[in-house]
Amino acid sequence: MKAISISLILLLAGCGFQTETADLIVHNAQIYTVDSEFSTHEAMAIKNGVVLELGPERQILNKYSAPEKYDAQKRAVYPGFIDAHCHFLAYGLGLNEADLVGTSSWNEVVTRLQSIEMLNSEDWVLGRGWDQNDWDINEFPTAEMLDELFPDNPVFIRRVDGHAALINSKVMELIDLKNQEDVPGGEILRDENSVPTGILIDNAISLAENVIPQPSLDQKTQALMNAQRDCFGVGLTTVDDAGLLKDEVELIKKLQDDGELDMRVYVMLSDTPENMEYYCATGPYKDDKLNIGAFKFYADGALGSRGACLIKPYTDRDSTGHRGFLLSSVEHYRESAQKLYDAGFQMNTHCIGDSANRMMLGVYAEVLKGTNDRRWRIEHAQVVHKTDVPYFGAYSILPSIQPTHATSDMYWAEMRLGRNRVRRAYAYKELLAQNGMVTLGTDFPVEGISPLRTFYAAVVRKDTKGFPAEGFQMENALSRQEALQGLTIWAALSNFEENEKGSLEVGKMADFVVLDRDIMLVPDNQLLDVQVKATYVGGKQVFAK
Ligand SMILES: [Zn+2]
Repeated sequence: MKAISISLILLLAGCGFQTETADLIVHNAQIYTVDSEFSTHEAMAIKNGVVLELGPERQILNKYSAPEKYDAQKRAVYPGFIDAHCHFLAYGLGLNEADLVGTSSWNEVVTRLQSIEMLNSEDWVLGRGWDQNDWDINEFPTAEMLDELFPDNPVFIRRVDGHAALINSKVMELIDLKNQEDVPGGEILRDENSVPTGILIDNAISLAENVIPQPSLDQKTQALMNAQRDCFGVGLTTVDDAGLLKDEVELIKKLQDDGELDMRVYVMLSDTPENMEYYCATGPYKDDKLNIGAFKFYADGALGSRGACLIKPYTDRDSTGHRGFLLSSVEHYRESAQKLYDAGFQMNTHCIGDSANRMMLGVYAEVLKGTNDRRWRIEHAQVVHKTDVPYFGAYSILPSIQPTHATSDMYWAEMRLGRNRVRRAYAYKELLAQNGMVTLGTDFPVEGISPLRTFYAAVVRKDTKGFPAEGFQMENALSRQEALQGLTIWAALSNFEENEKGSLEVGKMADFVVLDRDIMLVPDNQLLDVQVKATYVGGKQVFAK
């Protein structure tokens, strides 16, 4: 009897043995599908860039033959990570500039600038990433030392958040700064004698940017390729680039069509007259690699440079009544919102301060009128007044948030906002409750590019050294499942891409990442050590270690 049943099993199993073909089989894995049941599987078959079937190890291996197999050695596999708000091209271009991130003093910034190799005596010295809040003396620097060291070279170094820049006297001369009027939505800092110090805030930065030689098409191409290499290395398979010009979008499309750029890109078009005119006439565009679905607006600046627009004055500038400012007129936002609505685009607006959030939620509400499926986004949603939070739910407005901003700002945010108002900041769990989702990003190069840092910051809310021991405002921490959804399916949803990516399900794109440890299970303090073993886009391996 026993012999009969064994041969019967062999016979049955043999019937359909590997009768189907696939391009790739991933097996011996713990696959987090991030489907609606949050189910897991051991194996999956992939064909023509999409998922064919998921199931138990034997079921998939017995049914399919494939020229390529990936043995995950019991490791965890997740849908490819999506960075819902980053600056992909700018990050690539920034790789050629002096890296000033993590400097602990102004002297260190200057030392790093001195080490740049220059070809010509008049070359521009470019850098980004300084943050005076990290220094012993946390005041804005001035041009003085730069003038001593670089009397002939123009110097332009951007603050970490991109919302302030320091220039030297060479640049000040080029743009005749001392005779410039203040720029709407910007500030030219001046000393007690009304002489510019070299610090430009928000819209005033463009005075200097306009005279920096523009990177060539070749340099932009190289920048995109370098950015792609680094992003695949951290498990990203889609990036939402928050602010691109028409020729940049066309370059990305060409590189994708030529098969050079495998990265999938969701484009937020910059708020420029050329973009508005051209794209509102042509409408949104979407293929497998490229999704031109949104416009990016800026309502205000950043908290670090006190350009974020607050309802009440900054706690550390209370005596002057400084509240920050909006970067454009409300009328401009209103008119643009209606145009984008009519043309079928999403509107994604950078809002940091509670006043900027209130203004923009109000503008969105006027146009959207009630719940809807237009998926307009507030980027950052950093400080939201309690009475304004329900707008997100009532008008189906999606919060697009960057958890590492919370853990980067937590050291000084209370100085800017005061003890009570800081509780209203980085309130991710509360925002999640509005529409049952949040979409996660890094805002790189403002922060590092790794989505695992985002995951850690969202869940643990500590810095890389484990500070503060109890976590920062833990009532707004996300669960691990929510953080994973925010990096995958909810991010896809915020891009109108949930039918083709964001989860590993039959018929969806085979974009996935293999990690050396399971981020759903490892202890908090080991999350930052987790490494990417492999990244796949459309079933094609684009990174392996
Ligand atoms: Zn940004």
